[in-house]
Amino acid sequence: MKRKALITGIMGQDGAYLAKFLLSKKYKVYGSYRRNSNYENNRLRKLGIENKIELIDLEINEFASVNYVINKIKPDEIYNLAAMSFVASSFEQPLYTIHTNFFALLNILEVMKNSKKKISLYQASTSEMFGNETQKSIDENTNFDPASPYGVSKVGSHYLVKLYRKAYNLHCCSGILFNHESPLRGEEFVTKKIVKQLSEILNNKRKIMYLGNIYAKRDWGFAPDYVEAMWKMLQLKKKDDFVIGTGICYTIKDFVNLTCKYLKLNTKWVGKGINEKCINLKNNKTIIKISKKFYRPLDVNHLKSNPAKAKKQLNWKANTNLKTLIKKMCDDQNLFISLK
Ligand code: GDP
Repeated sequence: MKRKALITGIMGQDGAYLAKFLLSKKYKVYGSYRRNSNYENNRLRKLGIENKIELIDLEINEFASVNYVINKIKPDEIYNLAAMSFVASSFEQPLYTIHTNFFALLNILEVMKNSKKKISLYQASTSEMFGNETQKSIDENTNFDPASPYGVSKVGSHYLVKLYRKAYNLHCCSGILFNHESPLRGEEFVTKKIVKQLSEILNNKRKIMYLGNIYAKRDWGFAPDYVEAMWKMLQLKKKDDFVIGTGICYTIKDFVNLTCKYLKLNTKWVGKGINEKCINLKNNKTIIKISKKFYRPLDVNHLKSNPAKAKKQLNWKANTNLKTLIKKMCDDQNLFISLK
């Protein structure tokens, strides 16, 4: 009998890569997505797996639907990846963010609590839970200090998982994933935005890009490496929570500079603060400006992981460094532009 996995949020970056990974492990994969008018399976199509997954439209905020779907499928493993995951939007839609990210998980946990079948649950926790906690390198014992409605919703969910694990002995765990990117990353996230817009500038399809806080630091890994960590966590007999990251962080400006280097754009930064800009030395034109529009009411300035526990107990480590990640994202973007 094939093992069965249910992935909520199958249409997202992680959902798509995880589905591909689980198919390679011979799972039967069910994927749920939010019912809305623009059904977007482009990521699954890009990975060539859109016909290999059983898709279910599921409103995860509705207990009755969650109950029905889980009891019908009877999955061995559930990966709860469905979320409102863009930090900046969570300031505009706090209620929606907390509903989707917190109450949906509660629905799943309640169904698991009442189920006779042993189901394992992976919950997508995040480095955004730490906010501006000042510890230089973050591990599983670092205090939470969320700096956005998104971060708050995920801290709540993180504690729900711990609570249900302790109180009801449920097989559930959380992966505290630091930022993870790929060619499938949504365009609202800064890495994809930089790669896409700089590639457009290089190909004369755009004149200028606007960015917000370029001095924030992030620990960026490659999403396919990270979905493997999710699976590894669920294979442990005794469920536990793990920090997953590369252990190295860079500023947004570093990411821009490395991308320019890979694209062979010869550039120079001038000015300070809101007037800082980046110039293309080939024609002396300004290609990047800072815009207040992309500043957040509160930002997280520094995120760096200490993934030692995952290395020791899961035998997992990030295999892709930032340069390689940028190469993969740029090559995919430029292939896309040349096909257009
Ligand atoms: P996050 O870490 O989940 O919020 O991932 P993002 O990729 O959305 O943002 C990473 C960092 O880049 C944050 O500190 C943002 O404030 C910063 N940033 C600077 N300019 C931009 C921008 O134009 N778009 C986005 N999304 N982030 C930006």
